[in-house]
Amino acid sequence: MLIDTHVHLYDKQFDDDRDEVIHRAIDEGVHAFIVPGIDVATSHEAIALSEKYDEIYAAVGIHPHESVRIANGDIETIKKLSHHKKVVAIGEIGLDYHYDFSPKDQQQKIFRQQLQIANERNLPVIVHNRKAVDDTRLILRETIAKYPDWRNFPPTQYSNDTAPRGVLHCFDGTLEDAWDMIKMKFHVSFPGILTFRNAREPARIASSLSIEHMMLETDAPYMAPAPHRGKRNEPAYVRLVAGKLAELQGLSLEDIVRSTSYTVFRLFGIGTQPSPKIAYKIRNSLYLNITRRCNADCYFCDRKGEAVVKGHNLRIEKEPDVEEIIESIGNPKVYDEVVFCGYGEPTIRLDAVKQVARWIKENGGKVRLNTDGHGDVINKRNIVPELVGLVDSVSISLNSIDPEQYGKIMGIDGERFHRAMVDFAREVKKYINDVTMTIVDIAEVDVESARKFVEDEVGVNFKNRQYF
Ligand code: SF4
Ligand SMILES: [Zn+2]
Repeated sequence: MLIDTHVHLYDKQFDDDRDEVIHRAIDEGVHAFIVPGIDVATSHEAIALSEKYDEIYAAVGIHPHESVRIANGDIETIKKLSHHKKVVAIGEIGLDYHYDFSPKDQQQKIFRQQLQIANERNLPVIVHNRKAVDDTRLILRETIAKYPDWRNFPPTQYSNDTAPRGVLHCFDGTLEDAWDMIKMKFHVSFPGILTFRNAREPARIASSLSIEHMMLETDAPYMAPAPHRGKRNEPAYVRLVAGKLAELQGLSLEDIVRSTSYTVFRLFGIGTQPSPKIAYKIRNSLYLNITRRCNADCYFCDRKGEAVVKGHNLRIEKEPDVEEIIESIGNPKVYDEVVFCGYGEPTIRLDAVKQVARWIKENGGKVRLNTDGHGDVINKRNIVPELVGLVDSVSISLNSIDPEQYGKIMGIDGERFHRAMVDFAREVKKYINDVTMTIVDIAEVDVESARKFVEDEVGVNFKNRQYF
């Protein structure tokens, strides 16, 4: 199910056929709409629409363009409206130095006042930014420093982490700017601009960031995607935006929809937590989540947190037995490969891996093992000969070529486990053709040296996985 997180359904361009537009979108699979106000009047209208349709949610706020026209008491009204049960955010608020319809200092003042409301109400924000990324970043940073508890919910069974703080809608900055926003726990989203041939930076951002940080929007009636560019936009076209994002991300439409819906759940509380899964599909591969135990504790790993990957919940309460794993696979032949992965180290359950892998091979499937490479230490023997004939390919997390840094990243004895991991890679390469060592692209790791080490010294494939 698709979610249009930014659609101005009250706009007068929809006056003649508003209900048809909404139903057309619902028929296209859009099951939720977030309608942001741009001033007090449209915030009321957004709420009225949310009362009429179960699928519609409202955001209330004053757009930077309108900040010059603000009347006495408007900010107070926005605050009052934010208590309505279908208001999920403060927005759209922000800065627009492109049109400069309002003086910059006035825009900044109104932006700050509304960020204060978001903090008081512990609500996320929907931020408009145009040619103003530096000041937007500055003000958001200043807000977080001033209100460190904004969006700090008490720990839940799923997470002890800060909830996301908002979204930079139709993000107008570089990839580097987007990273800064993500580090501050904001998401980014793009409407139809993604489909415009001349919009290079949005496409670069949308193909570089992990999908976990992005959402879908149309910004209708503006920003219609190709092939409707220049015409009135409508929420049914969010499917075209999703299709383009899938292409840029190298994911399936199903992956985009599932992942962005989960992000909306985390940010706006719309929808429900997905139920935990043993087998989960991404692109045309099936991943097997057979344990949450691991001998390491990587600082970037969300194993003990929410453990959600592209909208799949991996927080299984108990380890499935071999029969349950096999049952969850179905027909292994329909997938490109079946991968032992998940938030845990599969070789901790080596016997289960071997039994399930044998069944997959007997039933015409292909098997990949994703591992930290510590299987020999964990099982106190050389496990490689036992994998031969059962596993077609192996991916090993290299993380770093420096043992000390490796130990720090993974929370283990760096010297001992780094040696074990490299030995495992060298051994596995003797028997299995398709071996890859991966690193997660975090700032402190030297990617090029890692590539050289993997390709020249170990002689296997190298892959750099994105962190953000
Ligand atoms: S080795 Fe993998 S599962 Fe284990 S803590 Fe690190 S990232 Fe998480
Ligand atoms: Zn808008």
